[in-house]
Amino acid sequence: MSILVVGSIALDSVATPFGKAEEALGGSAVHFSASASFFSKIHLVGVVGDDFPEKEIEFLKVRGVDCSGIKIEKGKTFRWKGEYGFDLNVAQTIETHLNVFSDFAPQIPGALREKEFLFLANIHPKLQLDVLQQVKRPKLVALDTMNFWIQGELEALKKVISKVDLMIINEGEARELTKEASLLKAARLIQSWGPAVVVIKRGEYGALLLHKNDIFSAPGLPLESVKDPTGAGDSFAGGFMGYLARKNSLDLETMKQAVIVGSAMASFNVEDFSCRRLKNLTMAEINQRINEFKKLSHFEWKHSDNF
Ligand code: AMP
Repeated sequence: MSILVVGSIALDSVATPFGKAEEALGGSAVHFSASASFFSKIHLVGVVGDDFPEKEIEFLKVRGVDCSGIKIEKGKTFRWKGEYGFDLNVAQTIETHLNVFSDFAPQIPGALREKEFLFLANIHPKLQLDVLQQVKRPKLVALDTMNFWIQGELEALKKVISKVDLMIINEGEARELTKEASLLKAARLIQSWGPAVVVIKRGEYGALLLHKNDIFSAPGLPLESVKDPTGAGDSFAGGFMGYLARKNSLDLETMKQAVIVGSAMASFNVEDFSCRRLKNLTMAEINQRINEFKKLSHFEWKHSDNF
């Protein structure tokens, strides 16, 4: 199965205690596509300005991503500038310049309107609604967002949430959105607004999956070297959705596996700035990392061990 993704394509300037990158390739749809392309066919829809260095997305094309839905508009590409301290779980936005995104009206090409899987990556919620109106109801619609939209476009955001099957959101944003301190209460509240499935990303601490009434918790893989967490959430979503689309299944067990695949992809993404780590990533490395996750949370407990 293939996935249609609509989201931001960006030039990111990021500083962490471990280095920095200026005007590097980023954006929610780019990180998502790079990650998901290891598992499924991806069709990317977005916009860039006429200042965008086209060679930047060459590697997505090499990965088989269909980039024919990327529009080039007169003006500047979307730019995001962020910083992280030693707590790499918290991104501090320094600047957001929507630029060509300000007047972007996504036009989903006819051939892409009937894709089975749709990922509404982090982008203005009104644009997410616009996309939903153009597509034939997919088998699964998943949604991501961020504090920028929670703070500025809450009404539109709640409207999109009510129309999707699955919401992927990070823990700080889940709390901000629901005004609930407990992640379980936050996830349950989001479920009551529409999506039957909610995935809460917890940065280096892992991820929580709420699938109807069931809960699954994935650990975060302890890593020795983390350089830049930007795009970890989108790489997670890419691995997660890419795996679901590859399996063409939405049952609980497949979703649990998908959470691990997503976690593995995010763990690679943070090892270098921008999308660099995914450029030379191999399937053998992915398999090995998934097995590390399996080992990390597996333990024996026999009946005779009971107190
Ligand atoms: P994450 O996976 O949550 O770390 O998302 C990182 C990506 O989100 C960066 O590459 C940014 O370009 C992009 N981004 C930051 N702010 C926004 C925004 N307001 N709308 C859409 N994308 C954004």
